[in-house]
Amino acid sequence: MPGDAATTPAQAPASPLATAHAQLAGAVAFLGYDDGLHRMLATPRREVHVAVPLRRDDGRTVLFHGYRVQHNVSRGPGKGGLRYAPSVDIDEVRALAMWMTWKCAVVDLPYGGAKGGVTIDPRDHTDAELERVTRRYTSEIMPVVGPERDIMAPDMGTDERTMAWVMDTYSVNQGYTIPAVVTGKPITVGGSLGRTTATSAGVVHVTAAALAEAGADLVDVTVAIQGFGKVGSHAAAIFASRGARVVAVSDQYGGVHDPDGLDVRGLLEHVARTGSVVDFERAEPLANDALLALDVDVLVPAAVGGVLDGGSAARVRARWVVEGANGPTTAEGDRVLAERGVTVVPDVVANAGGVVVSYFEWVQANQAYWWTAQEIDEKLEHRMQHAYDEVSTLARREGLSLRDAALVIGVQRVAEAHQIRGLYP
Ligand code: NAD
Repeated sequence: MPGDAATTPAQAPASPLATAHAQLAGAVAFLGYDDGLHRMLATPRREVHVAVPLRRDDGRTVLFHGYRVQHNVSRGPGKGGLRYAPSVDIDEVRALAMWMTWKCAVVDLPYGGAKGGVTIDPRDHTDAELERVTRRYTSEIMPVVGPERDIMAPDMGTDERTMAWVMDTYSVNQGYTIPAVVTGKPITVGGSLGRTTATSAGVVHVTAAALAEAGADLVDVTVAIQGFGKVGSHAAAIFASRGARVVAVSDQYGGVHDPDGLDVRGLLEHVARTGSVVDFERAEPLANDALLALDVDVLVPAAVGGVLDGGSAARVRARWVVEGANGPTTAEGDRVLAERGVTVVPDVVANAGGVVVSYFEWVQANQAYWWTAQEIDEKLEHRMQHAYDEVSTLARREGLSLRDAALVIGVQRVAEAHQIRGLYP
């Protein structure tokens, strides 16, 4: 039983689900909820496990496993990304779906939380194979998704093109075009301006808000970013454009470092050409682990989960950790960072810009009326600042970490929706 698996932070091993359960248990204890409500909040509402057979380009057939978990839909339809990665399993998807529930509640969107994934390494497959995998996965989970049920978006290993395939498969099967079934799709088929950069823009907005509380500004700080994909690369560009000094970035192949500040534009061109930050000629090489321990002001983990555990957290020298990734800090990592006085801006706030603009995209698709880039930027900044302020105010009032405060706000909003709706029958 997921409820039984809820553990205290001190006991939690570093699996994403254990981290998510430990975080929930902390919020539930603070809010004084009983065991029954705790179990309801810990247990996914619905889980779908599908077989995804693929005919490879060479004619062989291989089989992948796919999942869609709707953790909670009390406040609205499920919302959450689709991940293609070798790490994907049911527990990882459960954890990510739970984090989506709290995230949507913290930024006050009318959504529940969901997540999907296929256990596949997209780098091992051609575009044609990825299209077939996406279409088969979509057709298998079709009964449980839809613009009023559960709306997908890109995550690790997927992108706007993947969303176009999902939308097309769903629409063809329903018999008409339904753009609102996914967000993060290309502009030409109803995507929103600003969605590609939204998660990263949100990361920068909350970093600015956290710095401002300490009397600092983006122009005063150095930044290191782990991960140079959709979140990390745009974050690097936006940090640099707002005057911060981005001194190090990394991807799964390695990292690069320039204490004077990386030439981010040159680096983006290098990555477009070579597929990695490695060997960028205008910087020194840097090991991935060393990036986490760099002497910078702001560290942004924007790659995989669980990278800041007790051991790596003890080596962090940054004053702020801003979580671009989902679940980059384990419960033990959190404890160590807190002891060392590092401020962690948690994922459910820090990377919520993506789902906020996904919400804007869904609203625009539903009303078939599109907003300007400026309208989107302003609304995003307002939402992120407001969410950060609410979390920070509660944290100060109750003596909580920003993570605990964010979870308390998110969990309480979801619990209130449960309580006001009542139990059926
Ligand atoms: P992506 O697939 O576009 O990029 C992932 C990046 O991480 C790549 O540069 C990859 O090389 C790097 N990476 C992978 N393993 C690594 C490792 N062990 N060490 C260092 N780098 C490694 O994915 P993304 O969409 O940028 O997502 C990154 C993180 O942000 C994920 O945790 C995701 O759940 C989270 N997130 C994404 C969005 C979004 O809108 N895309 C929104 C919220 C949160």
